Amino acid sequence: MIRINEHYTKLKASYLFSDIARRVAAYQQANPGKPVIRLGIGDVTEPLPPVSIEALHAATGELASRATFKGYGPEQGYAFLREAIAAGDYAARGCPVEADEIFISDGSKCDCGNIQEIFAADTRLAIPDPVYPVYVDTNVMAGRTGPNHDGRYEGITYLECTPANDYVPAPPVAPICGGGAPELIWLCFPNNPTGAVATREQLASWVAYARATSAIILYDSAYEAFVRTPGIPRSIYEIPGARDVAIEFRSFSKTAGFTGTRCAYVVIPKTLTARDSAGAAHSVHALWLRRQSTKFNGVSYPVQRAAAAIYTDAGKQQTRALCDFYLGNAALIRAAMTKLGFACTGGVDSPYIWINVKRDSWEFFDQLLNRAQVVCTPGAGFGKCGEGHVRISAFNSRENVEQALQRIAAAL
Ligand code: PLP
Repeated sequence: MIRINEHYTKLKASYLFSDIARRVAAYQQANPGKPVIRLGIGDVTEPLPPVSIEALHAATGELASRATFKGYGPEQGYAFLREAIAAGDYAARGCPVEADEIFISDGSKCDCGNIQEIFAADTRLAIPDPVYPVYVDTNVMAGRTGPNHDGRYEGITYLECTPANDYVPAPPVAPICGGGAPELIWLCFPNNPTGAVATREQLASWVAYARATSAIILYDSAYEAFVRTPGIPRSIYEIPGARDVAIEFRSFSKTAGFTGTRCAYVVIPKTLTARDSAGAAHSVHALWLRRQSTKFNGVSYPVQRAAAAIYTDAGKQQTRALCDFYLGNAALIRAAMTKLGFACTGGVDSPYIWINVKRDSWEFFDQLLNRAQVVCTPGAGFGKCGEGHVRISAFNSRENVEQALQRIAAAL
């Protein structure tokens, strides 16, 4: 008899955004004359930067002739893209990252979800709450947790992000779960969903903790391109010593509007090691290369060219303008919600505004949908500590954001 992976049965039946889509669809069916504005899911709305479009056209042209045709690409991604990343995202900021420490992929979602499989099944986990759901769910699928009780899985040390710590958790002072310090620690800054950023000192305390406890930090900086406040780190490798304890995930999705085009990357320093049960050190880079070359086919050549184009001078200007546009929306949303009396986080170095609505978050979601025809994301969907909050996303046209804010002001 064929049996299922029963760890899947511990998961909530559907993904948060499917639940939201269902509620919105039901509302629209019942109210066909009332157009809905979606500020819920974090998908971009603006077109790709012109440099990327030009690169896509040119690369497609290369595929049309035998002399320049490309088949399977190099396992870690084309050198032209890895070198552009190493120079543009790291050397330019004084971070010691080499091109061959970069793995090109088709998304940070897959990378954040897949990385756990190269670590032991009984690895102790620390994961923020609230959080981008992929970190928790993929560990549940892999059997690294017990069942869920009251919104919390057994076997995870939750790093609570609340108004009390300005939504930036500090390293645990004592082991909480499983009788020892966490070994794999997920961090995400600028954060989804809270929009909070970590200071250099806060990140340094995590790096020191990981070094002291031989843990590895999985640092998701999918939104680093939105950081504008001087001094806020955009990479964990800005912290001395991070190379020995951190993996970094980055994506072109929000930086350059690639959510439908698909390109991202992971940095795994060659100095990063983890041990086997006999205590021997293994290169994490080598394990990931083995995993990717077995299970992943790479990103298409035109898309890698389109991604590399954002590191040209014109590309840098265009992507900065793109992020500035969304940050302009974010500032409007934060100001409008603050004016309505809500405490807000994010929206300054991040496209997300995290709003402390101090009531049931699904109830607030329904209220906004029914009274203002605006879709937000209920905080409870991101974890227990997300309750009492909603996330509003700045990814939309200026016109839609302005209209949504007028409707919200009239409705609340
Ligand atoms: N990490 C975070 C924190 C995200 O919010 C998202 C997407 O919303 C991703 C990763 C996934 O990015 P990608 O589109 O590269 O899969």
